[in-house]
Amino acid sequence: MNANLFDILETGIADPEATAIETPQGQCITYADLVARTGRMANALVSLGVRPGDRVAAQVEKSVEAIILYLATVRAGAVFLPLNTGYTPAEIDYFIGDATPAVFVCDPAKAEALADAAKRAGARIVTLDAKGQGSLTDAASGASAEFATVQRDKDDLAALLYTSGTTGRSKGAMLSHGNLVSNATALRDAWHYTADDVLIHALPIFHTHGLFVATNVTLFSGASMIFLPKFDVDRIFELMGRATVLMGVPTFYVRLLQDDMLTAENTRNMRLFISGSAPLLAETHREWQARTGHAILERYGMTETNMNASNPYDGDRIAGTVGMPLPGTEIIVTDPDTGAELPQGEIGMIEVRGPNVFKGYWQMPEKTAAELRDNGFFITGDLGKIDDRGYLHIVGRGKDLIITGGYNVYPKEIETEIDAMPGVTESAVIGLPHRDFGEGVTAVIVPTKPGALSEADVLAALEGRLAKFKQPKRVLFVDELPRNTMGKVQKNLLRDQYGDLYR
Ligand code: ATP
Ligand code: MG
Repeated sequence: MNANLFDILETGIADPEATAIETPQGQCITYADLVARTGRMANALVSLGVRPGDRVAAQVEKSVEAIILYLATVRAGAVFLPLNTGYTPAEIDYFIGDATPAVFVCDPAKAEALADAAKRAGARIVTLDAKGQGSLTDAASGASAEFATVQRDKDDLAALLYTSGTTGRSKGAMLSHGNLVSNATALRDAWHYTADDVLIHALPIFHTHGLFVATNVTLFSGASMIFLPKFDVDRIFELMGRATVLMGVPTFYVRLLQDDMLTAENTRNMRLFISGSAPLLAETHREWQARTGHAILERYGMTETNMNASNPYDGDRIAGTVGMPLPGTEIIVTDPDTGAELPQGEIGMIEVRGPNVFKGYWQMPEKTAAELRDNGFFITGDLGKIDDRGYLHIVGRGKDLIITGGYNVYPKEIETEIDAMPGVTESAVIGLPHRDFGEGVTAVIVPTKPGALSEADVLAALEGRLAKFKQPKRVLFVDELPRNTMGKVQKNLLRDQYGDLYR
């Protein structure tokens, strides 16, 4: 079957004069502009020698031009590879050395620092949004807007997206046209997205959430999105008067809740608040509903599969769950040791199958074979259970499971107890090597202020609330938890830092 993600965008356009993207400065880019500029950019890429299947890597700040680069790459049949803007030249060296793109696009200010890395990777380096030699934007502005979209097979790659690196080194997930089309279509239907929607887009665009979920769904629906360079409480309150949807990570909602501007009146125009990428605390969900009257819709996904599950649009959005599989996607829970499917209600490994599941890890055939089963199920690495209503509960990452004295301990259960204590901002519970127990349960706590509570206070409060084997052996206090750019807690860094605690 021939397919190109870009075709879906073109067929989704009901009104070419409608706004596709509004810039932070208030400039409106229409769908007609977007298609024409994408055609120009695709011609510029082809004249640089980009062929179908080639990778086009980009480390660029969020802008309309960056979205045009993404769409043009896909339209030319090449593979888009967005890179975190926080990566240093040494990190970029690794990623482009691994992915060997034909072209590497960066911001003008970084071109000099990245020139060597590009050379080593055999990539041609060009800049975005600048005038002068080596400017891709310049080359595109002189090119024709006519471009015949390159047809690809649905299994051909549209993107190579590296995982967030929360549990270790990032892996390149190979995503096909079929993967991205099926997922955007499923989300559009699940969330009742229409051309009337206006999204507040405050996420980075080098990650699956901001690039594929937010951007694809909006463009496929002929809706519009207002770009914010980053999360900004004041701007978000200003925009809520005319926007309809906000997509965020849980920290967005926690921060908005701290502001008195958050009222039912100020969110009246909004129809949908979506949270994903990390667990949304049930108490955040409840507080939000009490203050605004809106129930946040939580969804669950990952780089390798796009989105898997979502709380229902119509129906109960239950706090602490990520809802049901998206249409076309199957989710099962299996025994992590034997791989056998577990009965409903039991905690095990979450596995996912469907047209959204990626084609494998880039140049990692062994890892791909270990995580992608022959029957099509992808072993996500996340632990969870399915309740009697069919809702999926995420219990945590398999790598974070603590085995102490032969018992399984799920950190989330203990974190939930600790987070509810007065004097606690947040916590992370980890297992550290222990002579007697194999692993020792350890709580790392960020207090509301230094000395807000002591180790003895925490242990006393947990006594009687949790079985003895789940009680932390030690409680540590820190100013903040290590997080990656998506706001996810990096427990592996904590385990490295405190690895000798019980030795
Ligand atoms: P890496 O695979 O490199 O360690 P990562 O898994 O954080 O990084 P992503 O693909 O960006 O990289 O994140 C997907 C993960 O985020 C999921 O596997 C899951 O652990 C977590 N996640 C996403 N949505 C939710 C959610 N709603 N609730 C809990 N966890 C979530
Ligand atoms: Mg992962």
